[in-house]
Amino acid sequence: MPPNELLRPAKALLAVMGPQARWMFEQEVERLEDAIAVVEEHTAPLPAKPSLRDYVRAIPITECPGCLNPLPPAITYYSHPDGWPVAEFDSLQWLYITCAHCEIDWALWKLGVPRPGQEVTGNG
Ligand SMILES: [Zn+2]
Repeated sequence: MPPNELLRPAKALLAVMGPQARWMFEQEVERLEDAIAVVEEHTAPLPAKPSLRDYVRAIPITECPGCLNPLPPAITYYSHPDGWPVAEFDSLQWLYITCAHCEIDWALWKLGVPRPGQEVTGNG
């Protein structure tokens, strides 16, 4: 079921509410729609050859899995035969983010971003 379908019963309730309840309820629906938009952005399939910006947007994990501090939205890259296709480069690139706090390098697959056309497999 698409995430927006989840709001259908809630929206049906709007028809039978008084003005004050209706206003509060609409605020809540708006908040949920914003949250759903964020989820959909992160779960949208990547294009066949994503840009570095596409990859940053696709990362579902925003905190370092090691120390739980926020990760910077800055991908580091270098040419690697097992890397990811990147719009800006002809050769495959190994993509990772370095935590500014604990300095651990997190490959994108460890942050939940599969290579285009692949599922997250937990190795590679
Ligand atoms: Zn860290």
